[in-house]
Amino acid sequence: MARLTHQDWLERAARLRPVTVHHIDGADHPGSGETFPVIAPRDGTVLAQAPRAGQEEVDVAVAAARRAFDTGPWPRLAPAERGRALLRFADTIEAHREELALTIALEMGKPITEAYDIELRAVAATFRWYGEMADKLIDEVPQTPADALALVTREPVGVVAAVVPWNFPLTMAAWKVAPALAAGCTVVLKPAEQSPLSALRLGRLATEAGLPPGAFNVVAGEGPAAGRALGLHPDVDVLAFTGSTAVGRHFLRYAADSNLKRVWLELGGKSPHIVLPDADLSAAAASAAWGIFFNQGEMCTAPSRLLVHTSIADELVAAVVERARALRIGDPLDPDTTMGALVGAAHLARVEDHIARAHAAGARLRTGGARLDRPGHFLEPTVFDRVTPDMPLAREEVFGPVLAVLTFDTEDEAVQLANATEYGLAAGVWTTDLSAAHRISRAVRAGTVWVNCYEEGGLNVPFGGVKQSGHGRDKSLHALDKYTDLKTTWIRL
Ligand code: NAP
Ligand code: MG
Repeated sequence: MARLTHQDWLERAARLRPVTVHHIDGADHPGSGETFPVIAPRDGTVLAQAPRAGQEEVDVAVAAARRAFDTGPWPRLAPAERGRALLRFADTIEAHREELALTIALEMGKPITEAYDIELRAVAATFRWYGEMADKLIDEVPQTPADALALVTREPVGVVAAVVPWNFPLTMAAWKVAPALAAGCTVVLKPAEQSPLSALRLGRLATEAGLPPGAFNVVAGEGPAAGRALGLHPDVDVLAFTGSTAVGRHFLRYAADSNLKRVWLELGGKSPHIVLPDADLSAAAASAAWGIFFNQGEMCTAPSRLLVHTSIADELVAAVVERARALRIGDPLDPDTTMGALVGAAHLARVEDHIARAHAAGARLRTGGARLDRPGHFLEPTVFDRVTPDMPLAREEVFGPVLAVLTFDTEDEAVQLANATEYGLAAGVWTTDLSAAHRISRAVRAGTVWVNCYEEGGLNVPFGGVKQSGHGRDKSLHALDKYTDLKTTWIRL
């Protein structure tokens, strides 16, 4: 396909008619009529009125998922057939790639090129990967005494509720929905209030692709109402969450206060990016800048703390600053844009508050720091150096394009700094010393360590955090652990 121009995308945006109904039990569901506005970060205009689910709609959606699990075809299909349905779903997503990418760029402000090339590729690939493996799982027959037979079988847990954030609206959803469906569970998805439109469209596409009614339901609504109702619901067996650490705590409480449903948490981060003096500095600088500014810095894995050896700090930071200044901030619908808009006015104000407190604490601004004087929610890519470990910028997740640079003199100090956080999602290490790379990646407490790269990987490796970044893993076969139970059957012969 010839690459679409800015004008092409603007015309498509003008023609787009977003889906503004829930998707429940294989059909559109208008809800109670209550709505909330979805605002485009690129210009602050209202894109659509999304349906606002409360307890009633959540009850209807969970009941549909419950019925579909207890008596419907989905968990009872031959695994190969479930797999084929997921592959058809992946094809359907691919066929609507343009529309879904556009919806995401409009509702949460990322560049259209990244929505199309990166996010939509990941979404289709995720459904495809779990579709392909649906009939390739093998259960266990342990060794037993001669008069017995034991079977250890994996069973779907039941109704899964997925509550997800807005930064990668469909990827975060797919990482939960695809393995849950592949396992034979049924699902209710609640997207973030900032990005409901892509998810509502996804719900309809599932039915168009032939998933049976109730297997995959989508309700839009706000966290404290619809999210809480799912968290407390007695008929939800598993709650899979991606979002902030603060809201993760709520879900653990909801589970304790209701049916002790299992809660899986993918939470925030303050990931360290360690650069040793022997590293390829130009590659490390490119990676540091790309990592923190990709997706407007709205990444749970963003390498938001650049830990650099004192001897190379000046050179490295200068190179990162140069790359920050070379970014093209602009309309997310312009294919040449490399940094789009922050998700909303309130989020931009929060990020600006982090910047103000970094100034107040005595960090040195090297570039950026200001919003753009134009409609929409745009912020310059921002770099602070002379950050010390006690400063808020070294400790708190910003979830925006703001880099904190700290320095170290020894490897031990680097590791100590890296671990001086309540988070443990990811880390990066840059060095040409193989032993140092292994020593550091062992010593850093994080779910993922990247050596001489960042944000790389495939669907066959697990993703998730330790410490207060959460627990449980998305992606890979390990994700199935979240959506299956082991049953032991012991037979006396
Ligand atoms: P958030 O505020 O925690 O919201 C996440 C989801 O929880 C949304 O659907 C939200 O609904 C819902 N929610 C909010 N308050 C709730 C409540 N009281 N009860 C039940 N549900 C509630 O996070 P966000 O601002 O959307 O996303 C940013 C955060 O996500 C960052 O901390 C980031 O690090 C984290 N994140 C983590 C990963 C990972 O894989 N580890 C990936 C991406 C993002 P509403 O939108 O309606 O409030
Ligand atoms: Mg939110």
